[in-house]
Amino acid sequence: MKGQKLGFEEGLKEVVSSGRCAGCGACVATCPVKALDYQDGPVLTGECKECGICSQVCPRREFNLAELEELAFGRTRTEEEKFGVYKKIMVARATDADIKSVCQDGGVVTAILASTLEDGTIDGAVVSGLGEKPLYPVPVIAASREDLLNAAGTRYTYSPNLLALRDIAKFNSVAVVGTPCHIQSVRKIQQIQLKKYTRRISYLVGLFCTESFQYDGLMSTLSEKLGVSPSNVKKMNIKAKMIVYTDSGEEKTIPLKELRPYMRTGCHYCTDFSSELADISVGAVGLAGWNLVIIRSDRGEDVVNRVLEKGLLETKPVEQEKRALELLIKLTEMKRKRGA
Ligand SMILES: Cc1cc2nc3c(=O)[nH]c(=O)nc-3n(C[C@H](O)[C@H](O)[C@H](O)COP(=O)(O)OP(=O)(O)OC[C@H]3O[C@@H](n4cnc5c(N)ncnc54)[C@H](O)[C@@H]3O)c2cc1C
Ligand code: SF4
Ligand code: SF4
Ligand code: SF4
Repeated sequence: MKGQKLGFEEGLKEVVSSGRCAGCGACVATCPVKALDYQDGPVLTGECKECGICSQVCPRREFNLAELEELAFGRTRTEEEKFGVYKKIMVARATDADIKSVCQDGGVVTAILASTLEDGTIDGAVVSGLGEKPLYPVPVIAASREDLLNAAGTRYTYSPNLLALRDIAKFNSVAVVGTPCHIQSVRKIQQIQLKKYTRRISYLVGLFCTESFQYDGLMSTLSEKLGVSPSNVKKMNIKAKMIVYTDSGEEKTIPLKELRPYMRTGCHYCTDFSSELADISVGAVGLAGWNLVIIRSDRGEDVVNRVLEKGLLETKPVEQEKRALELLIKLTEMKRKRGA
């Protein structure tokens, strides 16, 4: 029954055991008595008080897209809005040389975060940082430009970014960067008005996402099939195939079908490609050195306009990149079908 206060066992155990858990970390971060640990998904290690919060924030339970669109945008999508509610769409890239040298595609995500950190809109940003193991994603709240530059780039292994919300009380105003599953959970946190989080969350930047991979599987593929040690990888990108750039300047590729066995189970159930509930959604969809940027909410528009005014982004009309727009629609439909 909707709104019922279910304990972890009744509410989430089946989500986890059936493999539908996305791994976002929202349930673990928001459990008020810290009864959950994160081991590639939630595990009950403490005493559950049956408050129901973990089930209510989970994007894989009682997910009502129309209600969440009303909450985020004050309306639901029209029939023409194939990739969700939006106000504007553009092609953009960062102008800052430091950001361009470390970013994944056009650096729009890091440029927006760095600009709003600098002008005081936010004092932190939930991102995916790097741990001691090579390419291992570690959720963190970045609090400086240096932190943001260190966290730039894409890790194709899953990063439970929302675990970083455990530190939110140390901040006044944070942006959240995440894949569509992360953004869905944050909207559910806003829906049930968990004030500790909602009063500190400034805006949401959603990434486009086809899938993510298991860490061990992806790393062993790099070593065994490409002969590349994960510690020598400078950057990875997916442009129809996985491209691996090494520190020594080599470029190696591997067809995506060879990585399919390592796709995370939870990703098979996912229907959102372009972070349809974010304030600003950013991807590349085949563009080289540029991003496709979807501005969805008034809040997103306000943030992007201020970054544009400072000259920190350059743009070109989306009409010049019709192929990217076609790919956005194709991947949107593919994910809806795959996850249905
Ligand atoms: C798992 C995954 C799959 C993706 N699949 C696609 C795709 O199919 N098509 C497409 O067009 N774009 C995809 N993207 C988005 C793309 O890789 C870029 O993140 C996006 O284009 C923004 O580029 P940028 O240069 O602005 O990013 P940057 O300025 O480099 O910033 C990237 C931000 O993403 C954060 N981040 C890095 N890894 C992760 C992670 N695993 N989970 C959450 N946050 C992370 C970083 O901390 C950083 O803040 C995917 C991203 C991820 C994480
Ligand atoms: S106490 Fe924690 S584990 Fe139990 S229902 Fe509440 S949030 Fe879930
Ligand atoms: S999808 Fe997120 S909130 Fe739901 S069970 Fe998995 S980690 Fe928890
Ligand atoms: S496909 Fe992407 S958005 Fe969906 S569950 Fe996997 S990582 Fe999350």
